[in-house]
Amino acid sequence: MKFAQRIQNIQPSMTLAISSKAQSLIEQGIDVIGFGAGEPDFSTPENIKQAGIDAIQNNDTHYTLVSGTHALKDAIIEKFERDNGLSYQRNQIVVSCGAKHSFYNLAQVLWDNGDEIIIPAPYWVSYPDMVVLANATPVIVNTDSSSGYKITAEQLQQAVTQKTRALVLNSPSNPTGSAYTKKELEALAEVVLKNKLMVISDEIYEKIMFDGFEHFSMASLSEELKLNTVVINGASKCFAMTGWRIGYLAAEPDVASAVSKLQGQSTSNPTSIAQAACVEALTGKQSSAEIQKMVMEFKMRRDYLMDRYAKIDNVSCYQPVGTFYSFPDFSELFGRKWNGKTLKGSLDVAEFLLEEAKVALVPGIAFGADNHQRLSFATSMENIEEGMNRIESAVKSLPA
Ligand SMILES: *Cc1c(COP(=O)(O)O)cnc(C)c1O
Repeated sequence: MKFAQRIQNIQPSMTLAISSKAQSLIEQGIDVIGFGAGEPDFSTPENIKQAGIDAIQNNDTHYTLVSGTHALKDAIIEKFERDNGLSYQRNQIVVSCGAKHSFYNLAQVLWDNGDEIIIPAPYWVSYPDMVVLANATPVIVNTDSSSGYKITAEQLQQAVTQKTRALVLNSPSNPTGSAYTKKELEALAEVVLKNKLMVISDEIYEKIMFDGFEHFSMASLSEELKLNTVVINGASKCFAMTGWRIGYLAAEPDVASAVSKLQGQSTSNPTSIAQAACVEALTGKQSSAEIQKMVMEFKMRRDYLMDRYAKIDNVSCYQPVGTFYSFPDFSELFGRKWNGKTLKGSLDVAEFLLEEAKVALVPGIAFGADNHQRLSFATSMENIEEGMNRIESAVKSLPA
């Protein structure tokens, strides 16, 4: 079969080999502890599920407006006002089938061949490929723990060329769990405005923050920045609604209208039932208590994990201020021998941890950071305890 160039331009997931190995161990009846989850281990809150059921009973089962129902757009507008101090009109909001779909649509309508898009690494796996699918060029800027895995204004300025169109920001971050302070955003904002860049701000983990860390949206810094920023958010992570597939973006009317045009010739509206449930998620009285419960549980697990990392020689981990991911650095193990093989990168370490410790992590190379593994704590405390015991003894057993 001859395939289109665009599908040949993107890579199959590098983590596929390791996850299929984990799967085959599980099928052999081996008890593998999975730390790979990219979604909350909680169920969608009851009031939200009920709103979905009601939508079906009320025959809310037809096409809706391509860019989302008025009811949901109004709930989103209210959310931006309440949580971010941002005011938008209905013609600035587009609801899509998940935040990933929002980003994909945006890339398709904004970028062309030759455009450069700055993506700080470690990054969420899908950004570079979605940029490539738009024929544009991802420009990866590496960051490390010294800046909390955040791009600095100097780094941003250095990466800018005549062709740069946009900066992709993800705060709080998947996979590092770090987040930008208002001051850090202000420093970046100066470079953004000076070079007339757009900012794509993925804020999907906004509500999952610890220790009173306050989330700021780039768009809320000034009216000028708001004009140049597209905010992406969604229901998946904060409301444990990954399967419902609702994401949205807020942008200037011309951008929103282009995204809506593309969506009108591709997927059309996201599911009517999921939209109705999302209205309840954003406006329901129970929602903030439900989120708080989830965040408290994640914080407890984060604290426990940080204690455990501190006690393992040759493994270090930046303390996440949000999300449900930790991103430990295993590079001290590089050069050591296991099973007659020298550990050289995150794929080797992931294989070692899977076969020796029977724990499944996601190799950092998937996020553009080969020294690391992503360990998701969207799993039970029992699993975390047992998994960390196993990791600790496997690392200890490795001859220096
Ligand atoms: C999970 C995730 C998304 C996409 O979520 P959807 O389920 O498509 O709404 C977007 N960005 C980041 C950083 C994520 O981790």
